[in-house]
Amino acid sequence: MKHVIVVGNGMVGYKFCEKLRAKADSTKVKVTVIGEEVLPAYDRVHLSEYFETGEKEQLLMAPRDWYAENDIELITGTLVNHINREEKAVSTYDGKHFHYDMLVLATGSSAFVPPIPGVEKQGVFVYRTLEDLDAIMAYGKDCQNATVIGGGLLGLEAAKAVKDMGLTAHVVEMAPRLMPRQLDDRGAKMLSNTLEKMGLQFHLSKRSESIVGADAVTGLAFQDGEILHTDMVIISAGIKPRDELARQCGLPVGERGGVVVDGELKTADPNIFAIGEVALFEGMIYGLVAPGYEMAEIVAAQIAEVDYTPFEGADMSTKLKLVGTEVGSFGDALMESREGTSIVMEDQFKGIYKRINLSADGKRLLGGVLVGDTSRYNILHQMVLNEMPLPPHPEDLIAEAREGAPVGNGVADLPDGAQVCSCENVTKGALCHTIEKEELLTLDAIKSCTKAGTGCGGCVPMVTDLMKELHKKMGKEVRNVICEHFAYSRQELFSLVKVKGIRTYRELLAAYGKGNGCEVCKPAVASILASCWNELVAKQSTIQDTNDRFLANIQKGGSYSVVPRIPGGEITPDKLIVLGQVAKKYDLYLKITGGQRIDMFGAHVGDLPDIWEELINAGFESGHAYGKSLRTVKSCVGSTWCRYGLHDSVSFAIEVENRYKGLRAPHKLKGGVSGCIRECAEARGKDFGIIATEKGWNLYVAGNGGSKPQHAQLLAADISSEDCIKYLDRFLMFYIKTAEPLNRTSTWISKLEGGLDYVKDVVVNDCLGIGEELEQEMQQLINVYSCEWKEVVNNPELRKRFRHFANSDEKDPTIKFEPMREQKKPVNW
Ligand SMILES: Cc1cc2nc3c(=O)[nH]c(=O)nc-3n(C[C@H](O)[C@H](O)[C@H](O)COP(=O)(O)OP(=O)(O)OC[C@H]3O[C@@H](n4cnc5c(N)ncnc54)[C@H](O)[C@@H]3O)c2cc1C
Ligand code: SF4
Ligand code: SF4
Repeated sequence: MKHVIVVGNGMVGYKFCEKLRAKADSTKVKVTVIGEEVLPAYDRVHLSEYFETGEKEQLLMAPRDWYAENDIELITGTLVNHINREEKAVSTYDGKHFHYDMLVLATGSSAFVPPIPGVEKQGVFVYRTLEDLDAIMAYGKDCQNATVIGGGLLGLEAAKAVKDMGLTAHVVEMAPRLMPRQLDDRGAKMLSNTLEKMGLQFHLSKRSESIVGADAVTGLAFQDGEILHTDMVIISAGIKPRDELARQCGLPVGERGGVVVDGELKTADPNIFAIGEVALFEGMIYGLVAPGYEMAEIVAAQIAEVDYTPFEGADMSTKLKLVGTEVGSFGDALMESREGTSIVMEDQFKGIYKRINLSADGKRLLGGVLVGDTSRYNILHQMVLNEMPLPPHPEDLIAEAREGAPVGNGVADLPDGAQVCSCENVTKGALCHTIEKEELLTLDAIKSCTKAGTGCGGCVPMVTDLMKELHKKMGKEVRNVICEHFAYSRQELFSLVKVKGIRTYRELLAAYGKGNGCEVCKPAVASILASCWNELVAKQSTIQDTNDRFLANIQKGGSYSVVPRIPGGEITPDKLIVLGQVAKKYDLYLKITGGQRIDMFGAHVGDLPDIWEELINAGFESGHAYGKSLRTVKSCVGSTWCRYGLHDSVSFAIEVENRYKGLRAPHKLKGGVSGCIRECAEARGKDFGIIATEKGWNLYVAGNGGSKPQHAQLLAADISSEDCIKYLDRFLMFYIKTAEPLNRTSTWISKLEGGLDYVKDVVVNDCLGIGEELEQEMQQLINVYSCEWKEVVNNPELRKRFRHFANSDEKDPTIKFEPMREQKKPVNW
């Protein structure tokens, strides 16, 4: 029986054990793993989650028992400090000796610390292990700010972590842009703009000369003479392979470190392999998990004496989320213009930049950069890897996603050989085969059976799409779950929240979910909680998007808008004067909107509570222009003024707007009331439109403007005002309870079996017998309405949140203004 010793129990060392045991049991191969860290291998990729959860065990790749259950001897907290190649033995720092037949070096890397004078001072850290994070958290308690040296992927992650600790985060980067290896100039600019708005501060093209301070850090000195005052420094300037054992036993290492290996991952000694971040293949260290896992597979196969394909290098494409901003870089991301043509899409307002690089003949996709929206990353990446043909209009690949079907190629178009999960090397063909053969009906089942999606998790959206496609083909009921953290649809979660009286995201996650949640379930649950209880959304700030966190729309240029409610578009002269005075005082730009109210643009986030205090004192309320909630009920002038008017459309619009103001829904809601069929209020372009008839009102539903305009359809004709309200209560509540997140009423109805006829049956004919219940639920929400801004203005704790910097009242210095038609507007980013 062979004895394999693995030195290093990191992500790759662990994966090697898992793969080896799947191919050879303990009667064939004895395995001993020796790791220096106290804990068994943990998920370094998700290291930052430790800041949120404080739970180390949650990050373990497998519990300690797993090793014993798989006949693997695990020795932790022990450094291997010597290899005797002649005797085929390793020794540990505490004097133990172990003989091996095969040795696998999986010692990974440590953080590279440049020789800057002062790095030994108190308050200087690196960001690599759980112990590093413990130390950062402990020291950070007494700090106001922290500076990260290195604006690459890990540096930005570290900066987010210190920002989440409530510190002001500075990032210093030597290059003129962030993530210089993955992003081009424009992509990096878009990213830094977005991250600056989130409170990070960047110092680009800056070389650090020394860390200043007596014993502890007080600042960072740059080569240009400038000094940045800082309480703490985190160095994230790259990685340094842990090749000291290889050096000690005379194995060749690279000029800049790393144990030299061939395609079989063998070192110069045929009995010693090196895998993961310590292995140097053709001059390259792969600082990502996926190539490490592939290496683990190849070595495990050789030891188990089964077939394998030698390592040929790996793709360094990456997709990640930085401070809530999605970033992707794939294939030849930084292609020079002479090598082909690029198509670029930029939306400064939304913070989105997309670039795809096409071959000179325009037939193939070579790579690209995505900032702000990586929803198509997986498919674009696969198109590069599989050299798939481009669609007739390649620009569609990065076109703004419209409602409805996605543009261009989808997962179904991928060839069977396409590698869907690169961490676990699972192809589309293998995935489809296993899902069909084993009848796997959930993402969890697919993950545990195929391992796809269990590595960095980047392929989960694609695996989910594939699963849905196959389930349709297999005629299986597709269970529509919200995301991998909740095995429930939005509708089911709504019922659970309501019936169980759940008031917070954490409560719901603990009772019915798992993990830490994600960008899909957090806002969806926030919307459900708001729809169920109508409580102040800003209280649950960590699960809200920016608009709801600050109860204002973030505008181009980084300022915010203030939109008071003006029901029916009617306003008294006194109130109009107040709007003018407030606008003058806070330098706001005024515009009358399409929803018949007055938008006040260009507010600094820190001014928002003071502005609203003055407006509330003058009798205004929040207009909810920022929320997925009722916006306005537009009206024409109606019978009060218009000679064609059949009824008083203004009074009815005001009644309806006041009834549903503050109502939270899966998407925004708009309404309209017209005094006759001439339809001056354009009510049929709204989610609900009411048009006066000789006999009463016609009620139309599910219209919208936007990129795919939709005319509202007739729900009930010639009804009284009372019936109109009754049907509206039912219709809106039914929509709120059953629609998917971010579906407007028209999309919701188009997805419902039976469409509008079914909705009519439920709302007008009460075919489910739930009409009264829906009305009561709506009435409860109406009863608990209160103005969100009034609550904030009167709550000193909530007011404190409205600051650009976590620890100072200073305004965002990057927001600049320029004149425009006798007013002032913020300069665009
Ligand atoms: C914050 C952070 C975020 C990251 N995000 C991503 C990401 O999004 N995507 C991605 O693909 N990658 C990411 N990475 C990189 C990824 O974590 C590494 O590629 C991966 O951990 C490498 O695994 P490894 O086993 O080779 O090395 P390591 O994880 O470093 O493990 C090596 C282990 O060996 C131990 N060891 C070293 N020498 C000895 C010795 N002489 N004796 C005993 N034990 C020893 C070390 O203590 C360590 O525990 C991230 C890394 C960090 C730090
Ligand atoms: S919709 Fe009819 S009532 Fe209203 S303003 Fe137009 S013409 Fe007059
Ligand atoms: S139509 Fe709406 S989203 Fe588009 S630019 Fe005008 S205000 Fe903005």
